[in-house]
Amino acid sequence: CGIVGYVGPRQSQAVLISGLSRLEYRGYDSAGIAVIDGGGALGMRKRAGKLKVLRDDLAAHPLADGTTGIGHTRWATHGGPTDGNAHPHLADDDKLAVIHNGIIENFSELKDELLADGFTFRSETDTEVAAVLLGREYRRAGDLEEAFRAVVSRLEGAFTLLAMHEDQPGLVVGARRNSPLVIGLGEGENFLGSDVAAFVEHTRNALAIGQDQIVAITPGAVTVTDFSGNPVEVEPFEVTWDA
Ligand code: GLU
Repeated sequence: CGIVGYVGPRQSQAVLISGLSRLEYRGYDSAGIAVIDGGGALGMRKRAGKLKVLRDDLAAHPLADGTTGIGHTRWATHGGPTDGNAHPHLADDDKLAVIHNGIIENFSELKDELLADGFTFRSETDTEVAAVLLGREYRRAGDLEEAFRAVVSRLEGAFTLLAMHEDQPGLVVGARRNSPLVIGLGEGENFLGSDVAAFVEHTRNALAIGQDQIVAITPGAVTVTDFSGNPVEVEPFEVTWDA
């Protein structure tokens, strides 16, 4: 029920956990993060229960930190609130991580297609289908933004979806349909959030992403396009409420 993404010079775990804690008010049953570390390897930790369970797990068994990361709090709709169903979900090669708020209505058709293609699944979620599909598209396209466009165009329902790939560190892509996503603009760093609360402690400069749009953030740039890849104008605004 909450989403945060970060690219920049800072170690991302603290930014992600703090963003997720500011989204706790929305309610959730599980939490997880994925980061790309300095060596370009993707690490992930996810746990059913409160954010404290995840935080304690990370303290006891630290995950290599990295400056690119995504974080999620889940409100289960497909599959019970277990560690395995918590997000992020990985592609089959474990190189790519996806988080999602919402419901992918056509997930069972897509899952059948992937099963027929020889893929297996590690969770009962609708979300993992998007992760596995994105992994397959990435191998075809060799580029995260292009693969992501191909995948989101095939999804029906409601989604705020974020993804990153260990071969393209410093890049987080996101898309939204019938579900919110906002960009936080920093100095040499950028943020994504399901709500401005995810990043308001770092920046008050935000951009609202429209329906059926895709965003790519790197430490120095933000680009927004439609699902076909055409650039679109986005509306800047300043967050004025007290954080
Ligand atoms: N449908 C997804 C799941 O059950 C996402 C739920 C959410 O919005 O947190 O895992």
